[in-house]
Amino acid sequence: MRSSDVPSTAPRAKYTSIESGTSLISALAKDDGMKEDPADQIPEIPLVPQPETAAAKEALGFKWAGKDSDGKVVGMRSKFGGAPDLLQPLDVVRCSCGKVMAHYAQIDSIGDKFILGDCGMIFVFVCFDCLEVKAVLQSA
Ligand SMILES: [Zn+2]
Repeated sequence: MRSSDVPSTAPRAKYTSIESGTSLISALAKDDGMKEDPADQIPEIPLVPQPETAAAKEALGFKWAGKDSDGKVVGMRSKFGGAPDLLQPLDVVRCSCGKVMAHYAQIDSIGDKFILGDCGMIFVFVCFDCLEVKAVLQSA
């Protein structure tokens, strides 16, 4: 985080920096003999909020959150696929069939009124074979 991006009086969000959730999952999967199916890995596709009503525009954004430790703007980190930008350590997410689940999406906090803990995010995982879904909420 660059100090010039946030007023000096603003409380700073602190995140545990985890290099790559996908790498973590891959490493764990490799350790116990389970392999991810490369066909299940979704490329990173940013999801950009486009509020259409006055209420939606008002709900979006933060007065003080600024950017996280990776320099990403809080509230603008939602995406399909790619590696989850984990805020805390996460064990491998596994389907009830035993397969490592694909990271389908991460959903960011919306704004000051609809905030997930301390600027947290929801991570959604799916098994494309069973269509089972798991979601994990992490906060800084
Ligand atoms: Zn499954």
